[in-house]
Amino acid sequence: MAGTADGCIFCDIGAHRAPAYILYEDETTAAFLDLFPFTRGHLLVIPKRHGARLTDLPFEDQTALLRTLDEICRRTERLTSDYNVALNAGAAAGQVVFHVHLHVIPRYGEANPFHPRTRVRLEDGEAQTLLRELSHS
Ligand code: 5GP
Ligand code: ZN
Repeated sequence: MAGTADGCIFCDIGAHRAPAYILYEDETTAAFLDLFPFTRGHLLVIPKRHGARLTDLPFEDQTALLRTLDEICRRTERLTSDYNVALNAGAAAGQVVFHVHLHVIPRYGEANPFHPRTRVRLEDGEAQTLLRELSHS
């Protein structure tokens, strides 16, 4: 697909070349469960076009990303009314995957979900339950 980068895991997920629990997608964006969630229902929203950071994207893709973020926030509110939206830009800001993504992190009263002692890999049963709850508009 035009605009993707070789070896980029989020390009691969957006193009269905790599597995992911995708709960929303359209022509330009996708949203899927984070594989190592900070909290239950931790989601990532991506543009399908590759860019390391928001300012690398054409403005139309930024707009589309925000539209999808709105949809995902509405669905997240089925889990809890409280959540964080985060964007890590650059290694010193904690960015590990260099394909821009927005984190939507539901909050259930944790002290600080950004610095948990451990992050446990998402289990398939839990992912399927969340997809049933969040896949439809
Ligand atoms: P960053 O620190 O770059 O803002 O966040 C990257 C996020 O991507 C992390 O929360 C990490 O758990 C998640 N992640 C990394 N690799 C994969 C993957 O292959 N699949 C999914 N679903 N999430 C991933
Ligand atoms: Zn990419």
